[in-house]
Amino acid sequence: MYNKVTVEDLDVKGRKVLVRCDFNVPLDENGNITDDTRIKGAMPTIEYLVNNGARVILCSHMGKPKGEPVPSLSLAPVAKSLSEKLGKDVVFAADDNVVGDNAKAAVAAMKDGDVVLLENTRYRKEETKNIEDFSKDLASLADLFVNDAFGTAHRAHCSNVGVTEFLKPAAAGYLIQKEIEFLGNAVNNPVRPLVAILGGSKVSSKISVIENLLKKVDKLIIGGGMAYTFFAAQGKTVGTSLLEEDYIDYAKKMLSEAGDKIVLPVDTVVAKEFANDAESKVVEGNIPDGWMGLDIGSKTIELFKDALKDAKTVVWNGPMGVFEMPNFAKGTNVIAQMLADLDATTIIGGGDSVAAVNQAGLADKMSHISTGGGASMEFLEGKDLPGIVALTDK
Ligand code: ADP
Ligand code: MG
Repeated sequence: MYNKVTVEDLDVKGRKVLVRCDFNVPLDENGNITDDTRIKGAMPTIEYLVNNGARVILCSHMGKPKGEPVPSLSLAPVAKSLSEKLGKDVVFAADDNVVGDNAKAAVAAMKDGDVVLLENTRYRKEETKNIEDFSKDLASLADLFVNDAFGTAHRAHCSNVGVTEFLKPAAAGYLIQKEIEFLGNAVNNPVRPLVAILGGSKVSSKISVIENLLKKVDKLIIGGGMAYTFFAAQGKTVGTSLLEEDYIDYAKKMLSEAGDKIVLPVDTVVAKEFANDAESKVVEGNIPDGWMGLDIGSKTIELFKDALKDAKTVVWNGPMGVFEMPNFAKGTNVIAQMLADLDATTIIGGGDSVAAVNQAGLADKMSHISTGGGASMEFLEGKDLPGIVALTDK
């Protein structure tokens, strides 16, 4: 487990603190932010630093400008949003080279509690290659470093990893601490029983997650499109459902190694085609020719509920069906409600799973909603995250 210096361990009064945030927010065609969840997620760290008299220099990437200035991916709208949330002016340093004359002048003019935001770090081609020049440029602006960008923690870039060579100590912000606490404890030190629910479309994209979690969980519930490759491994027919033939042997191996740890669906909502208004019915066991599985059936819902009822920690990644279509969202919604009502630590990871929980209006009933799709997956795979490894040990 990680034991890293945190923002509260730093003496920040009057010091220039460079903070790597995840301000990779979606914009509409007029440059308006359409979802500010990530900005809100960064506020506890920023507010702590402002309230403790630090000189706060914020940086982040947005989108993929591929190493050159792209005006539609400027962080200027983020500066505006931050100013509103903080109730104070956030100075935007509009340098195409991120650390240029504007940034240097803005930092030189800072007083305690002031906030400056740098331009999109991926305007610099060095950023994603972790090339020293840019790390040094960033470090030259500040005295201390805080990383709070969990969403990029699985990447080693200048602004989260390279910079820690030149700015020490490098501390974890509140958001990263929360992710480490919830995901880390769930995987490495869980209150048991620990039950994982895996779903979504593909076995192939979640092999490492299945393997790592199978070693740690008391039960592994498998639903969603990936279940049908396991059906095939059990010798069942799957009709026109999602099937990864190359992974049937793998699924067989998992089933034989896992014993009764793996819980699979026993009935399926099947449809004639991949459409919300398609003709549909519920079948047990085999899926007949010409039908595709799009959701778990009601017997499966009861089976999964039973497998979850005593759980003290639940990790959920991947929807139980095609939740984007209302007629095939029931399995996902009922499981989400079950977790919301459960007296357990509940952790949701994965972009679509988080969207499903939001769609069900249950996000605030979960213990933790992970903010990093790729990063939380790698955490569940048991991999080290370079953005966290690089921080200073306690
Ligand atoms: P996450 O983003 O939470 O990790 P995935 O990306 O692995 O989840 O999977 C989400 C997608 O899986 C959703 O778009 C959902 O529609 C799809 N899905 C779930 N069940 C099925 C199914 N039975 N058939 C086809 N697609 C499915
Ligand atoms: Mg996804």
